[in-house]
Amino acid sequence: YTDKPIARSGEIIEREERVLPKAVAIKYFPMAIERGRGSLVWDADGNRYIDFLTSAAVYNVGHGHPAVVEAVREQVGKLQNYTIVYFYNDRPVRLAERLIETTPGTFAKKAAFAFSGSDGVDGAIRAARSFTGRRQVLCFKNAYHGMTTISLSVTAIVGREIRERVCPDRNVVFLEYPDPYRNSWGIDGYGDPEALTEAAMKEVEEALARHRGDVAALLIEPAQGDGGMIFPPRPFMRRLREVTEREGVVFIDEEVQTGMGRSGRWWAIEHDDVVPDLIVSAKALGGGLPISAIVGRADILDDLPSPLLAYTHTGHAVSCAAAEATLSVIRDEKLTEKAEEKGRRLADWFRRRAERFPFIGDIRQRGLLMGVEIVSDREKKSPDKAMALKISWAAWERGLLLITFGRDGNVLRLAPPLNISEELFLEALDRLEGALDDASSGRVPDGILTHLQGW
Ligand code: PMP
Repeated sequence: YTDKPIARSGEIIEREERVLPKAVAIKYFPMAIERGRGSLVWDADGNRYIDFLTSAAVYNVGHGHPAVVEAVREQVGKLQNYTIVYFYNDRPVRLAERLIETTPGTFAKKAAFAFSGSDGVDGAIRAARSFTGRRQVLCFKNAYHGMTTISLSVTAIVGREIRERVCPDRNVVFLEYPDPYRNSWGIDGYGDPEALTEAAMKEVEEALARHRGDVAALLIEPAQGDGGMIFPPRPFMRRLREVTEREGVVFIDEEVQTGMGRSGRWWAIEHDDVVPDLIVSAKALGGGLPISAIVGRADILDDLPSPLLAYTHTGHAVSCAAAEATLSVIRDEKLTEKAEEKGRRLADWFRRRAERFPFIGDIRQRGLLMGVEIVSDREKKSPDKAMALKISWAAWERGLLLITFGRDGNVLRLAPPLNISEELFLEALDRLEGALDDASSGRVPDGILTHLQGW
């Protein structure tokens, strides 16, 4: 290790910095990725990495899955897209039919499409506000929902000052997300999930009372992703469903990161036995191509007048073809079961390592939704961002791609493809072990921290 990074793909980096604004990125390693196949990616200099980031939970079926590639090739050769704003097209119709099948609830459902998690959240909030004739949106501190204007207004993980400067929206209420490990109430949520649920529900009830008759939607990630992979206590989602039903508030289940099989079910909310009104999906949905979906109650989605969910490329034929193939791969290769199995083993592996590495503070996992919190003091639960970055840096040097996330930037994010082979899974664990050893024994110099921005 040296504290001057060898700028892999250096020339690309210099050119990017000249022509792209810094706001497009939170940069980690000085590297440009050029190629991907299955669970592997290669940088522009030909170095190989096992992908435990998957482009931020996009490649649930791996890179270049033959079924996805073939579907894209076939569609692109026939027609890239012709806007569905004016004419009909079978591709988004088929995808809507498939998505409606995978989502919970037996009521009449529809699906609307766009391109990113951000615009999916925007559309869902627009529909909820239109349907209820109300304005307020209840959402959660430490959440990430996107960077378009409405989705940014509900993204608490971004600093309040800049958020209010660029998209002041007074119609959002931020509530504390019940984090069992660390919360402002000082409750041990693992020991007493009921008490943690009660504390959080008290805030929800207070907000509903304060804005009685004006709450349009409740927007929630069933596990906070970029916030550091936080799973709320078991009864919480069910309690939220009860109060939203009582108050006529639209329950929006934000599954941009948690959906498409990653949690070990199609949708993470299925673990809670809750049926939301709307589900927002993106990221893994397109198997690498940009597409988002809002799936749920037909009466809510139909309330928006035409053309309020129309974009020129809504339901883009090539993205829809890729998404349909991705759904088939998840179903046919039983990837929810694989996510369960690999996730459980990965969490067990970390539990065993916790005896040797005192900086492992908390291990959170459901399927292959996983975060490992790195702390400098286990008792005090003090976040250790520097150590987390050093581990990810050491992993990178050893050919394993993983980064950090979370409010304090100290949580290791573990998100391999759901169909990673046994061989690469074991190889990744081997590399991870080396990275933990390197970081804990001081072999990774402090100097690298000046090159890593991190969350
Ligand atoms: N919601 C969640 C939970 C996310 O993790 C993200 C992306 N990190 C988004 C929304 C925004 O998605 P996109 O970047 O595709 O707009």
